[in-house]
Amino acid sequence: MTLLGDPVAHSLSPRLQNAAFRAAGVDGVYVALHCHADGLPGLLRGIARAGGGGNVTIPHKLLAARLIEKAAASVNTTGACNTFWLEDGRICGENTDVAGFAAAARQLLGTLAGARVLLLGAGGAARAALSALLAEGADAIVLLNRTPSRAQALRAELALDHHRVQLAAPPAERLDNESFDLVVNATPLGMTPQDPLAFPLERLRQAGAALDLVYSPAETPWVHYARQLGIPAADGLEMLIQQGAASFQCWWRMPAPLEAMRAAVPHAAMDVPR
Ligand code: NAP
Repeated sequence: MTLLGDPVAHSLSPRLQNAAFRAAGVDGVYVALHCHADGLPGLLRGIARAGGGGNVTIPHKLLAARLIEKAAASVNTTGACNTFWLEDGRICGENTDVAGFAAAARQLLGTLAGARVLLLGAGGAARAALSALLAEGADAIVLLNRTPSRAQALRAELALDHHRVQLAAPPAERLDNESFDLVVNATPLGMTPQDPLAFPLERLRQAGAALDLVYSPAETPWVHYARQLGIPAADGLEMLIQQGAASFQCWWRMPAPLEAMRAAVPHAAMDVPR
């Protein structure tokens, strides 16, 4: 199996998947292959036609969605594909970020059904998160993005049911005293030490939980901040593990060895549901 992206050297997926392959006893290895957009069509099709498969990461997920021949619902709703394989002679594609987000958010919150959620960001990760939140029955999702027009476009594209998705314009202070069951950071804020916090949680009347899609070997700044306020929080590692587990299942048609995958990457920060 191959990871196609640009860059790929930082990815934890080879560690995650090779540990899973060993634990499950499947006959395969997982390698990361750096490729530019113009090389993606030939590589993805060539690997799949040879009976292989893999993942696609930044910035090629949208292009990959146009290269596959049989798209899962997650690809159709998000317009992005991160997993491909060959089945009955056709190149199939899934976007396992959707299932990965849903599983990680459920672990933190218990259930997403009926939840009121603040979603920060409107890029690829927010797209998968919004799709999962709508499918899992979240009651209301408020989108807040630095560039409001992108949040508007995301809502127009993904939310057929417009009344469940509301738009909030920056600054964050406009949401003073609002209450959310879950606040999701789907921006890259926190990846570098000089970044500001993704959102001033203390200005809300109530925040039930905080999910940071950013991950790092140590506690992320936003998870640290949320915990200091007494808010249960989790970083993005569990989503990474869960999207990898869903990809494993697409390729090998068996449940992924989750514990072996968890043991292969840094310890995820995840508070227990209240
Ligand atoms: P992306 O497509 O580039 O989107 C980034 C989003 O963050 C955009 O909405 C952007 O706003 C906003 N943003 C960027 N810099 C900002 C800043 N300085 N202040 C405020 N907003 C800012 O990226 P992505 O693929 O969605 O990834 C976002 C994060 O999620 C990354 O850290 C990535 O590593 C993480 N992620 C984690 C997982 C996982 O499995 N845990 C999976 C996917 C992604 P504008 O629209 O204004 O540019």
